[in-house]
Amino acid sequence: MEKPNDPRARVEELAQTKLSDCYQCGKCTAGCPRGADMDLPPTRMMRAAQLGQIEEASKADSIWRCLSCLTCSARCPKSVNVSGVVDALRQIAVETNSVSPKSAKIIGFQKAFLRNVRRNGRTNEVEMASDFEIRYFFRRFDVMNVVNTGLLGPKMIARGKMHFAIGSPVKDKALVKRIFDKCKVEL
Ligand code: SF4
Ligand code: SF4
Repeated sequence: MEKPNDPRARVEELAQTKLSDCYQCGKCTAGCPRGADMDLPPTRMMRAAQLGQIEEASKADSIWRCLSCLTCSARCPKSVNVSGVVDALRQIAVETNSVSPKSAKIIGFQKAFLRNVRRNGRTNEVEMASDFEIRYFFRRFDVMNVVNTGLLGPKMIARGKMHFAIGSPVKDKALVKRIFDKCKVEL
């Protein structure tokens, strides 16, 4: 499908929502669990999108802090898909290579997660963490990150928060692969 030229229309198409429906009541931000540490909380993000400031909004760190919990969309009295708008901005940020350096680590982790799901059908936590650490290290040479994870990993394994094996294997891995192929995910 052809991408609309108007960036607002592109966000609306990706999020399947109408930006002008938002009347800035603030309920999305009030319920957002990450709102307090976002540079552009959901209500302001919606306003920026309404004003066509898509490039600015896609550079905000907030879009990578969002937990995709959907509270904002569920609480909106105008049924605006706020969470979908955040997802749309993420997609645009990746497409336009405008991810802020501050958020590079979050994206690195998300990609490691997706690579692991594509490979195994679900996550193998130790394998995923190792994949992330190795790639992140060679991209940034961030020794402290490896040291911190190295110290944290054994504690998490000891407390049953991280596992070496996948709980129950996925029967149809080919189906998972087809989903990734269809979405044309580049990892
Ligand atoms: S809750 Fe809905 S209408 Fe209110 S500010 Fe958020 S998006 Fe806009
Ligand atoms: S989906 Fe994201 S923006 Fe919406 S309430 Fe949850 S964390 Fe906040």
